[in-house]
Amino acid sequence: MSHPNNVKEVEEDLHLYAKRKAVYPKAVDGWFRRLKWLIMVVTLTIYYVTPWLRWDRGAYAPDQAVLVDLAHRRFFMFSIEIWPHEFYYVAGLLIMAGIGLFLLTSAVGRAWCGYACPQTVWTDLFVHVERFIDGDRNAQIRLANAPLSLSKITRRLIKHGLWLMIAVMTGGAWIFYFADAPSLLHDFVDGRAPFIAYATVGVLTATTYTFGGLMREQVCIYMCPWPRIQTAMMDEKSLAVTYKDWRGEPRSRGMKKALEEGVPTGDCIDCNQCVQVCPTGIDIREGPQIGCITCALCIDACDKVMHQLGKPRGLIDYITLLDAEEEAMGHPRMPVRKRIFRPRTIIYFSIWGAIGLAMMFSLGNRTRIDISALKDRNPLFVKLSDGTVRNAFTIKVRNMEARPRQVEIGLLGMDDARMWAEPGDRDTAQRTIRLVVAPDSVSKDRIYVISKAPEPAREEFSFTVRALDKQGGSDSDKVTFDRAEGQ
Ligand code: SF4
Ligand code: SF4
Repeated sequence: MSHPNNVKEVEEDLHLYAKRKAVYPKAVDGWFRRLKWLIMVVTLTIYYVTPWLRWDRGAYAPDQAVLVDLAHRRFFMFSIEIWPHEFYYVAGLLIMAGIGLFLLTSAVGRAWCGYACPQTVWTDLFVHVERFIDGDRNAQIRLANAPLSLSKITRRLIKHGLWLMIAVMTGGAWIFYFADAPSLLHDFVDGRAPFIAYATVGVLTATTYTFGGLMREQVCIYMCPWPRIQTAMMDEKSLAVTYKDWRGEPRSRGMKKALEEGVPTGDCIDCNQCVQVCPTGIDIREGPQIGCITCALCIDACDKVMHQLGKPRGLIDYITLLDAEEEAMGHPRMPVRKRIFRPRTIIYFSIWGAIGLAMMFSLGNRTRIDISALKDRNPLFVKLSDGTVRNAFTIKVRNMEARPRQVEIGLLGMDDARMWAEPGDRDTAQRTIRLVVAPDSVSKDRIYVISKAPEPAREEFSFTVRALDKQGGSDSDKVTFDRAEGQ
């Protein structure tokens, strides 16, 4: 007969979901922690402050430095303005971001996860708020195990209140990228903002609070696909946070005592500092794990312990698999510089740089004015009483500058052809027409072209547009002129 305890153990083994073990990361100081602080301050400042930066584009365009203007289908980024037909620039930026991640991962492993991923940055912020209210790791554990009291409830209310405040600010900052920030804030507070603004803030507040405050490391370990993809991008030459077991093992709890007793020990004194500072609660000494976001806080913690013991730093280190094997055999490791600059990373960087340069060149040389012509299909042509043939076109001129521009529309080819624009008439027909196109807009004009030549039945020519200001710029669009049916 089975013992009841055994039955319980078997049932627990069969259970597919392990209960979450709360993680109370201990505060640590060191080189990597300071780097994390720096990146956190820079990324959060960029996120919260950017919508409030102004950029003068003249009277006809918004003065917000970075703006996704959905209503007018434009994307403004400082001096760059992207129109819907130029969406390939956004696609190019996304491709660059993807290749950039490949480059970063193959060079320094999961550094994105450890330092710059929004989940990491906001979780870190929430952890610091928690530490500020509840104290460091031991105080947090004591508080979690303490019975409910007025002090515990007060602390919980303050902590969750601050978390919610950060979450609202995070959701709030996002909507300011999509409209003029000062006006939207005013409308938002007055309750006059569009419903979608309130809905977006609501959803982002809920997700920030849940992911950053409540779920934390579970998002990285169970929800995010990136750790799985990254594993495929890394190789034996990628840097990773590694515990040097050949140096640390066998562990001893009391180094002094072990030395006194003459027991051979490794450098690891099993102090658990590396585990206690880990934001995902893992023990790096068990080997590389998907839960390790490569934040290197365990390196800071262990280096401090090694310093106190008078041992060289780097028992836990940023090191490649190849170098770890070399070092374990007593050979010198390759300088980090050589590990980072290797063919694979150079190829990624070259592709990334080439796309960036091509985009910059294209942006610098793109025309700020263009023309498109659409021919009337019904009727295809009209024969006037004197035998002259008339074709009608709809001409669109796009002015991508934030100021009105005078342009000249001309005919290229069909030397005998003349044209006029509605509401003019045949007597005003010429080879060129001048018009003014409003800033940041597309003009639409109906134009009639006439030709006295009896043939050919179908002839190609182009409409041209030329800006008549100092900046200049031109474009053309090829069309056909019909004099007979069924060609
Ligand atoms: S911090 Fe260093 S010495 Fe302490 S348990 Fe971790 S690896 Fe061992
Ligand atoms: S094991 Fe070290 S590097 Fe990995 S997540 Fe934990 S503290 Fe960060």
